[in-house]
Amino acid sequence: MIGSVADKKNPTANRILVCDTVDNLLLEGLKKKGHFVEYRPKITREELQNDLGEFGAVVVRSRTKLDSSIINSAGELKIIARAGIGTDNIDIDAATQRGIEVITAAGSSTQSVVELNVALAIDMARKISHLDRNIRAGNFKKEEGTELRGKTAGIIGFGRIGYETAMVLRALGMNIIAYDVVENTDAINHVQGKYLSLNELLGEADFIFILVTLNRGSKSLIGEKELSLIRKGAFIVNTSRAEAIDGKALLKSLEDAKIGGYASDVLWNEPPKEEWEKKLISMNNVVITPHIGAQTAEAQKRVAQMTMEKLLKALDGAA
Ligand code: NAD
Repeated sequence: MIGSVADKKNPTANRILVCDTVDNLLLEGLKKKGHFVEYRPKITREELQNDLGEFGAVVVRSRTKLDSSIINSAGELKIIARAGIGTDNIDIDAATQRGIEVITAAGSSTQSVVELNVALAIDMARKISHLDRNIRAGNFKKEEGTELRGKTAGIIGFGRIGYETAMVLRALGMNIIAYDVVENTDAINHVQGKYLSLNELLGEADFIFILVTLNRGSKSLIGEKELSLIRKGAFIVNTSRAEAIDGKALLKSLEDAKIGGYASDVLWNEPPKEEWEKKLISMNNVVITPHIGAQTAEAQKRVAQMTMEKLLKALDGAA
């Protein structure tokens, strides 16, 4: 717990609860401006429910869930700051109803997620994690992989991360196709790509990148039917949210060797707990990282800086 020059006697509006692990820059920056900062990166749901009412602002990453029951117990809370981009852990409707402003650090981790996307695609294409596991088990044996050049990358969710990932893939010689509910002509032209319907994209792509925001429309966007349309042997990279795919249907596609591989930074439960989920992550052609998309020194500094600037501005407005 870190207190600033102010103490518990500060008005609620100047009291900020920081729930998840953040860069020190954010904590120090808020304190320097005279705000009281309580840093509780391991706060439990029960503690949050009890204590949130004492604060004017709360900072979360993806670990802390701000559902309607928590938000409705939030007393004088005026601002929710998401130190990152995805807001699927925050009940935006409940926040809006209570007049709570929600701010994000959109764009601050894009480059780190882009680099992870490309790494995961190459990992599957060259079977890096799989062969590494083999060698550790005493099995030194070559296996043939595939190049990215000349292949088609299908980007589902052509937003900030989708576009920047396409830029790198294009530089590697891939053809770009994309699907999004909002089309950005300049961006797609810049990567010499084209927009297709979701079904068309699934039938044409060799590498599918799922980079959508999680919302009502994108939940289970890729279900059994969509998986059946995917080219045999195609690879899927998912660094957005696991819920965009029906996990059990995905497991079946992998078991039937319909999909070439699945690489993901996100899980349906983090850490995994369902039996089907554990089965999926133990497969040879599956690569999983523990939600490290934004977990670089550079991204965390940018996230902290942007969150601090936006939060200070919002606190000024709320004062
Ligand atoms: P963005 O808002 O710039 O792009 C998201 C795109 O998804 C938008 O173009 C939007 O129109 C599109 N979209 C939304 N619903 C859709 C639907 N139903 N069908 C098709 N397209 C749809 O966001 P971004 O900065 O590119 O980030 C994308 C997502 O990546 C975030 O929402 C977050 O969940 C995830 N993310 C993960 C990590 C990580 O650590 N793995 C880090 C940062 C972001």
